[in-house]
Amino acid sequence: MNNRTIVERDLAVLWHPCSQMKDHERNMPMIPIKSGQGVWLEDFEGKRYLDAISSWWVNLFGHSNPTINEALKAQLDTLEHVILGGFTHQAALELAEKLVEITPPGLDKCFYADNGSSAIEIALKMSFHYWRNLGQIGKTKFITLENSYHGETLGALAVGNVALYKETYGPLLMEVITVPGPDCYYREPDESWEAYSIRRFADMDRALAEHADQACAVIVEPLVQCAGNMRMYHPVYLKLLREACDKYGVHLIADEVAVGFGRTGTLFACEQADISPDFMCLSKGLTGGYLPLSAVLTGNRIYQAFYDDYQNLTGFLHSHSYTGNALGCRAALATIGIFQTEDVLGKNRTLAAAMAKALERFRDHPNVGEIRQTGMIAAIELVKDKQTREAYPWQQRRGLRVYRHALAQGVLLRPLGNVIYFMPPYVITEQEIALMVETAWQGIQLAVQD
Ligand SMILES: *Cc1c(COP(=O)(O)O)cnc(C)c1O
Repeated sequence: MNNRTIVERDLAVLWHPCSQMKDHERNMPMIPIKSGQGVWLEDFEGKRYLDAISSWWVNLFGHSNPTINEALKAQLDTLEHVILGGFTHQAALELAEKLVEITPPGLDKCFYADNGSSAIEIALKMSFHYWRNLGQIGKTKFITLENSYHGETLGALAVGNVALYKETYGPLLMEVITVPGPDCYYREPDESWEAYSIRRFADMDRALAEHADQACAVIVEPLVQCAGNMRMYHPVYLKLLREACDKYGVHLIADEVAVGFGRTGTLFACEQADISPDFMCLSKGLTGGYLPLSAVLTGNRIYQAFYDDYQNLTGFLHSHSYTGNALGCRAALATIGIFQTEDVLGKNRTLAAAMAKALERFRDHPNVGEIRQTGMIAAIELVKDKQTREAYPWQQRRGLRVYRHALAQGVLLRPLGNVIYFMPPYVITEQEIALMVETAWQGIQLAVQD
């Protein structure tokens, strides 16, 4: 096996996610990976890549993590999978107990699925079905924020708002109520994140007041809209949202698929606003980046609305074949175990400070419109004009130039359009942060030429 034969065979049969496959013939050569160790990926010829994006935001404690590997090996020799309808097993049970324990108060029940989008579908269906079971059949709509992202299946896509992924499928999607968001990129130059987030809440309050009778739930990504170019806002928005949802009788769905498990500085992003959502969706980092698994946490009050004699047909008859997979649950338990035996959040504060320091040099760059950071997520907004923040035309694909330069230098960055971001595994060192940021700096110099 060498790089070339793998790539040739790959392009003959494999259709890759989120890709224009034609790109892989020239612009973006396919990168074959043989193995991973810590923050490093290695190809078939010994070339290494620093995984600065945690393999699409899933990896927390490095590739081939010894603790998670051990746990999985033991699970593999015991039970790989069993139907979760009518059956249960130790890993699913222990993980549900653990998730109930570590998530914000009031989340007492855990429903499993196998990816983030499915978790969103479940939260949407549960919210709608809850109101229906209560006889509130007029509640059929969801409220969502501009620039949000919740996954690619049709329900999740409908409540998302990134045009690039959504527009094509418009005719297939349910109608939603879209509210202007709190994205602090658009605050006034002298306005704080907090003041702007409070100001932007007025639109949400109005939408809730107007649509309370039709709205099942508001769905948000707490603190960071990751796929929406890593746009960020202040926790006060979540606090106001929780109060307003209670006031108007609308559920709050927190999509922590990307921001959960320490990404924003706290174990869950909702903690920074000191709120409990009615539904919390978890996936991505849940298994440390090992296996597909997701969970929807909700409260007893919701659970009770489904609990009745079978003949009344109020049960939640939703399932996926791999729901509660034993290997996935075991990887998740091992991952959470690392949070509980090591001071991960404390160490991350040091790493986040190192990222902030390394990013300072971009502040005066003539093509940087903003650098922003929330915990272990940092982003650089490339612009054509620093004063007006005029964006580069997307057709120029400037971010792609950064991507290609970084790969040549052995760093995996994957810009979102013209936004270069860093979302590394928590086992990155300060030296590796310096390398990752220096490589981005060089890539940006190339990307803004001509
Ligand atoms: C990735 C993501 C999803 C979808 O998860 P998949 O596992 O890719 O289906 C949903 N919400 C957010 C916020 C995400 O970042």
